[in-house]
This record gives sequence, C-alpha cells and structure tokens, in this order.
Amino acid sequence: MEVLESAAKMRRWSLANRARGQSIAFVPTMGFFHEGHLSLIDIAKQRGDRVVVSIFVNPTQFDRPDDLETYPRDTERDLELCRERGVDAVYFPNAEAMYPEGYASWVTVERLGDYLCGASRPGHFRGVTTVVAKLFHAVLPDLAVFGQKDAQQAKIILRMAADLDFGIEIVLGGIIREPDGLAMSSRNVRLEAEQRKQAPAIHSGLLAARELWSNGERKASVLSEAFRSHLARQAPGARIDYIEVVDWSSLAPVDMIEGDVLIATAVFFGDVRLIDNELLVGE
Ligand code: AMP
Repeated sequence: MEVLESAAKMRRWSLANRARGQSIAFVPTMGFFHEGHLSLIDIAKQRGDRVVVSIFVNPTQFDRPDDLETYPRDTERDLELCRERGVDAVYFPNAEAMYPEGYASWVTVERLGDYLCGASRPGHFRGVTTVVAKLFHAVLPDLAVFGQKDAQQAKIILRMAADLDFGIEIVLGGIIREPDGLAMSSRNVRLEAEQRKQAPAIHSGLLAARELWSNGERKASVLSEAFRSHLARQAPGARIDYIEVVDWSSLAPVDMIEGDVLIATAVFFGDVRLIDNELLVGE
C-alpha cells in the first residue's frame, strides 16, 4: 500500500494506474476509522480495480475551532486498517499544502446547502465541496463512495459532480450502526458514559417517527413532535439542534409528506454534535 502526501504524487500514481486500464474507486474520509468507513472501502473494492482512501481533517469545513481541535485522530491505526482491508493507496495531504498562503478559491453549491446542517453550520458545505473538488483533482477517480449517514453532504456532492462535469460516478453506502442503533461516528468516542447510554435514542426516535409515517401520518410536524418527546423521555441530556422532514430532491422542509422525504436530525450531547437520518420512500 502506498501512502502519498502530495497532490502531484497522488496524481502520478492515479495516472499510471489509469494508463494500465485500471479503474479507481475513491473513499474520502477524515480518518479515525470505524465500521462505517470500512463498509465504504468494501463497496469501493467491489466497484473499482484500485481503491484510494484519503485521510484529511479538513479545517475549512469546521464551524467551531474547538470541534476541529478535539476531532479524534489515529493515523497509524487508520493506515493499518487500510492495509488489512486491501486499500491500494492512501492520500494523506497536510493542511498547509491544501490551503497555502494566499488560498482564495471556493466551490459552492446553491440551495441544497440552505437547510439542515447548512443552516446550523455556516460555511460547512462550502468547505466540504471545496475539499472534495480538490481531492477529486488529485485522485482522479472513476467513482467515489459516500455515506448516507451524511445524507445532505451526499446530495450536495452528487449535484457538484454533475454540475461541474467531474465525470465521476457517486455511489452511496448505507448507515452502519452500533448494536444499540447509534449511528457510528468518529465523534462517538467523545461522549461521556451517560451520554453514550442515551445516544441510541436518536435512532429510536427516528424509528418512532417512521412508524407514525408507516401508519399513514403525513403531517411533518407530528413526526418531528414525536421525535422531540421521545428524546425528552429517553435522552434528557440531549439538546436538539434540528429535527426536520425535508423533500428528498430539494432538501427543503415540507409541511405535508408526499413522495420521498428525509427525516434528519442533529443532536448535541454537551459539545458533541451527532447527526442521523431516515429516508422515507413514498409509494
Ligand atoms: P468522515 O470521516 O466522518 O468525514 O466520513 C467519511 C465518509 O464515511 C463519509 O462519506 C461519511 O458519510 C461516511 N460515514 C460516516 N459514518 C458512517 C456510518 N456510520 N455509516 C456509513 N458511512 C458513514
């Protein structure tokens, strides 16, 4: 397995492999791997001849300096897991090379970023789309794999890849969960024991809302209210950042549910912010 630290070396590696007729499947990450990341690597292995993983904690997508500082990192372990999982190359750039003195260029996707995490984390998606565009230019993949856990991010990347003619297929992987239902996240290790005990209520609350929808409820506010009261009972230590039912195409909030919608939430336990969602596929 190669570990490449500059965009120029990464591109040379990819061009050499592409010249041999090998397709490249790419998994961008911020490291500190869990089974969610590894599931995306498995999808990449099935879909491409060569698998590239990037590990880069991207400063421009953090809206809170303390969140960036405390973001968990363990590169040695990540590299070992990549080796075990059969990754061919790891792109591991540093922040100074990604954003040198005088850096001034940004990629923004309009509208899809106005809601959900875009509304509560100003500048977050501009940081995401910019870094993913830069990673795409360095890695030159045929396809890239993203997780449904960050559903809004995945929609925005799909839009960017189509709008800007990247010619890269975007593949989505399902949400991988702990046995108690908590969506795996690198941030979970920052939860205190009592917070960790309460955190599965995020998923069970979403399932309670889904249950109402399965039984015919179509008022978005009823689903959101059910989630809020579930959390108030099961997770008194939680503070809801948002709970929204949004149209799956536009990500705009809906009052009445028609067709496919996403019920998405962000919840704080102390200063740890966790997200989760359920896709409700209409008839
Ligand atoms: P991150 O390292 O948090 O930026 O995540 C890298 C990729 O892994 C993103 O495409 C995420 O959506 C995906 N991911 C994170 N958590 C999970 C999970 N629990 N299940 C599946 N994919 C995930």
